[in-house]
Amino acid sequence: MSIFTHDEFDGHEEVAFCYDGASGLRAIIAIHDTTLGPALGGCRMWPYADEAAALTDVLRLSKGMSYKSALAGLALGGGKSVIIGDGRKMKSEALFRAMGRFVESMGGRYIAAEDVGVGVTDVQQMAKETDHVAGIPEKGSGDPSPATAYGVFVALETAVALHYGRSDLKGCRVAIQGLGAVGYQLAERLAAAGAELLVSDIHPEPVARAVEVLGARAVAPEAIYSQAADVFAPCALGAVLNDATIPQLKAEVIVGSANNQLAEPRHGQLLAAAGKLYAPDYLVNAGGVINISHEVIGGSGGPAYERARAFSHVARIGATLREVVRLAEAEQIPSSEAADRLAERRLRAGAKDSSVAA
Ligand code: NAD
Repeated sequence: MSIFTHDEFDGHEEVAFCYDGASGLRAIIAIHDTTLGPALGGCRMWPYADEAAALTDVLRLSKGMSYKSALAGLALGGGKSVIIGDGRKMKSEALFRAMGRFVESMGGRYIAAEDVGVGVTDVQQMAKETDHVAGIPEKGSGDPSPATAYGVFVALETAVALHYGRSDLKGCRVAIQGLGAVGYQLAERLAAAGAELLVSDIHPEPVARAVEVLGARAVAPEAIYSQAADVFAPCALGAVLNDATIPQLKAEVIVGSANNQLAEPRHGQLLAAAGKLYAPDYLVNAGGVINISHEVIGGSGGPAYERARAFSHVARIGATLREVVRLAEAEQIPSSEAADRLAERRLRAGAKDSSVAA
């Protein structure tokens, strides 16, 4: 297993392998880039097939956080951690406290939060050993999904204005895939704004609720791509924009919370060539991390977390989307590539600033 020559290495500043025999903890902490600030990123617990799979995942995810925070204009870098193991069998206070001690040993260069397989109570156990955690009620911001849903809503409004020249969402048809924490709250906001909703989920309960409470129309999961909608909002899984689904899409605008929506980078080109406006996922779904950044600022001696201030910061996702679309048009590149370029530009500008300060 190579590190420096690994396909996903991409100049990571630090990769730490963490082991605690007493609790059975095996974990990796990856810090991709701290140019703009401490590396904030969730801690994921997953039964990886082997260490190589865990390493690939943590490197990919931590680089993704650098880009997400840079594009959102946050004074935060990118990092991530993974715990190898099955959360249903292995979770214990000792394990998360051991993880907390490893986070503490990074001296604040890495700040951990919830992710797949790691919930609020697990992070609270880590917090017994380190102050370098975020996303728990004690720190102020709590559940990130309301802020994420708000960011998706603002991006959706902006994309509809840019693509269709519409000033509001009245009568705009939105097909939502996935009515979980983010998707359902997005549906509520859209319904309040007068949008027509077509909704799908693999579980019938949230669909039935959206039909009854929000006046949505239920659609079978496999039929969601081909709906005659103005907007497709993927809020469930990654890789849903692929060779099989793109030709089915009638919606010309794609805005949703799901991570890694493009199966491969070339699918960004395919969408652009088909005349679709794809709002890049890591720009659209940054509301949660923007919200958390406000408690991190509070924790480091700045003002305490304030929801109204955090949410008005989340709303800036709309202006960034306009900037990304302008860049894509000017350079004749897909929006996904424009988002990467803008994030890289912000990272380089941050590097220049710190060299001046030094
Ligand atoms: P969630 O688990 O609460 O909801 C996901 C929903 O998708 C569930 O209701 C599930 O039944 C449904 N689903 C799964 N497969 C489906 C399919 N094939 N068709 C239709 N529905 C399907 O998760 P969430 O927190 O709402 O997050 C949704 C997406 O947004 C995820 O990709 C997540 O990584 C991403 N995201 C979430 C946040 C956040 O703040 N929660 C932040 C950034 C990104």
